[in-house]
Amino acid sequence: MSKWGVRAKVLGLCSEALAGWAVALVALVAGALLTAGLALAAQALYKQQLRQRFELLAAERQSRIAERFDDQEQRLDGLRRFFTYSKDITPSEFDGYARALLQRTQAYSWAPRVEASQRREFERQASDWLGLDYQIRQLDASGNWQSAPARDHYYPVLYTQADALQGQPYGLDLRSQPAREQTLARAVHPGSMAVSAPLDMLSVAPQFSRGVMIVAPVFSDAQPDGPPQGYVMALMNMRQLLTEGLPAAADDNLVVRITDPTGRGGHEVLFDSQNPVAALSMVSTQLLHLADHAFQLDIRPSQAFQKANQSSAAFAVTLLGGLLSLLLSTLLYSLFSQRQRALALVEQRTAQLQISEQSLRETHNRLRSVLDAATQVAIIATSLKGVISTFNTGAERMLGYSANQAIGHLQLEDLVLPEELNQRAQALSTRYGRQITGGQAMFAETIHDSSGEPVEWTLVRKDGSHLQANMLVTAVLDEQGLWVGYLAICIDVTERRRVLEALAMRDRLLEKLSAQVPGGIYQYRLDADGHSCFPYASQGLFDIYEIDLQLLRKDATAVFERIHPDDLERVRRSVRYSAEHLCAWREEYRVCLPRAGLRWVRGEATPEPGEDGCTLWHGYQTDISDLKGVEEELRALSITDSLTGIHNRRYFQERLRAELERAQRGGLDLAVIMLDIDHFKRINDHHGHAVGDLVLRRLCQRIAQRLRRTDVFCRLGGEEFMVLCPGSNAEQARVLAMELWQAVRSVPIEGVGKVTASFGVAGWREGEGADALLLRADAGVYAAKQAGRDRVEPELT
Ligand code: GH3
Ligand code: MG
Ligand code: MG
Repeated sequence: MSKWGVRAKVLGLCSEALAGWAVALVALVAGALLTAGLALAAQALYKQQLRQRFELLAAERQSRIAERFDDQEQRLDGLRRFFTYSKDITPSEFDGYARALLQRTQAYSWAPRVEASQRREFERQASDWLGLDYQIRQLDASGNWQSAPARDHYYPVLYTQADALQGQPYGLDLRSQPAREQTLARAVHPGSMAVSAPLDMLSVAPQFSRGVMIVAPVFSDAQPDGPPQGYVMALMNMRQLLTEGLPAAADDNLVVRITDPTGRGGHEVLFDSQNPVAALSMVSTQLLHLADHAFQLDIRPSQAFQKANQSSAAFAVTLLGGLLSLLLSTLLYSLFSQRQRALALVEQRTAQLQISEQSLRETHNRLRSVLDAATQVAIIATSLKGVISTFNTGAERMLGYSANQAIGHLQLEDLVLPEELNQRAQALSTRYGRQITGGQAMFAETIHDSSGEPVEWTLVRKDGSHLQANMLVTAVLDEQGLWVGYLAICIDVTERRRVLEALAMRDRLLEKLSAQVPGGIYQYRLDADGHSCFPYASQGLFDIYEIDLQLLRKDATAVFERIHPDDLERVRRSVRYSAEHLCAWREEYRVCLPRAGLRWVRGEATPEPGEDGCTLWHGYQTDISDLKGVEEELRALSITDSLTGIHNRRYFQERLRAELERAQRGGLDLAVIMLDIDHFKRINDHHGHAVGDLVLRRLCQRIAQRLRRTDVFCRLGGEEFMVLCPGSNAEQARVLAMELWQAVRSVPIEGVGKVTASFGVAGWREGEGADALLLRADAGVYAAKQAGRDRVEPELT
């Protein structure tokens, strides 16, 4: 790839990466702006709703207050009508009527018009009615009561019905105070009412003392155009009027304030609910009319209202919008990144494909070379119809066709012997139960993998000559696993077959020969690690060990398990020795067989070094049990005295030699007892030779019965006998000799009578030879004879 190509690619990747970030960023910013817009809209909507709600509440509150104002007017009007239509109302009648009206009102009073001329009479009559010293009076500047000065007429308070008056302002002349008088002056027409400016009410609880007074003139039916007969009044405190029956200030959604524009300082606050105002720019200002007076009602939302109407919509919109924006930008970034990765993957795969293509081309070339290099193997590929498409050098050499002659012109079936092909086709037809043609027979047992067995075919060369070949046909598959052709690999096995036949003939020959040989012939292999086996063993070896030959070919352990325990170590030793010294092995030993029992075996074999440090023996083994029987019989005969059945002189001499060696080696005791029958010649003479023989036999029986198993009893010849006593000294031998002497002489022999013998004893002495020992025993016998026979002569010194 050129330098420019690389740079362009890198730039491409960079811009892809940046594009991902850019799109994500744009999405994030757009999302944030949209979210902000939505949040603002939500906030505006919220504010609008808040305002509407406030206005609703304010209007409702305003109408309630206005209702209360109206209510006050109507009650006072009711009281006025009571006075208009009733004459001479007594205090109790007033109380009865006014008490019922006393709701959210400080007090109701009645002040009749009293002319100056009627003052005394009125004061007297009022004192009677009220039961106290009633005077028309007024308050001086310092707040003390004093008798009212003379006026042309008075409006003194006569009756008062109050809710919580501390004292009754009886007799107060309303004309004595300018504020009250001005109010009376405004209410001089029938049906009119007037409200005073805020004033400090007398005899009222301090918290309610500041209030207004509503006055209504009462006219006489008789003189409707005259001055009012009196005034009914209602004293009102705004706090009482506005707080009773309305929510407590702390819970109130509204902050209410009523001001009187004509009050103290021009704008006196008559009521302020004093709960905290919310930081909202909302206010509802109305003028409320009470009689002829207007009050300003200001209503604002309270903090309780703000708290109750808090909205989290804007926050939720912001949060949700923020999250969605973030999600969208992440998604877009992920999509762009995936695209980028996909592009990178495509590029990577393309590069891999190019490498694979290159590698495939190289493999193809290599394969071609391999095909041609396999000159001893014919490699032939065909189409599905069997037409040859590949014909390697090995095939050219094997079959005599050139590749050009074969490829596209010949089919695989043209290369095999037609008769054999037909035969195979028939066999396959029979097996599969349907007609199989020659061409199909070639591929009928095609294999999918390399686990199949090659089939032997007779191939026909171009020149018509034949050759034997092993042919393995496998299916050629494409990437989808569909068969696209066949691949036949042929190996010329003509020579191999010939060799195999020759080998088989050899084997048959060997079998025949080994069948004629007594016993079995074998090859025995001992590996360096101690493992051993019989790579070859003729049938005879089975008779010898009664072990399956197949088993022996793998492992010879079973053979050693058959060998008699007493002989096993000897056999093992001799095998090892033969392996170490590569000298001929020859051994005779016993085997214990399940069927034949104990048998004697002789083996002979010659070792040679084999591969990997093993040793190979070739030899034979044969059953020599019969031979061993004869041998043992002969041996028994050779050491046995035929007349008496006890051991003979030869055996005595063998044993004497052996026992002497043992005694010398181990410092053991050894003694001999020699005896000679007394006057035996006479027995022969008197009774005949046969009786003499009988005496010899009887005497042997008697002596043999007395002997220990370790003692060796032999007939030296004629009527002379010897007892070899291993482990006995001279004295012990003498004691034994005494027993024997008694055994001989004590019981007479039938037909002969008492038979006696003379005994000589000799204990072996350190360094003494066999002859000297025997000589001393013989001398003992001689001495016994000399001493009169029939005795035991103790050992001679
Ligand atoms: P003594 O030993 O007491 O001096 O007298 P003896 O008669 O036993 O002496 P001697 O050794 O001279 O005689 C041995 C005889 O034993 C001679 C021979 O005829 C006889 N004799 C040797 N062998 C046999 C045998 O196998 N069978 C029989 N019946 N007699 C035998
Ligand atoms: Mg004798
Ligand atoms: Mg004798």
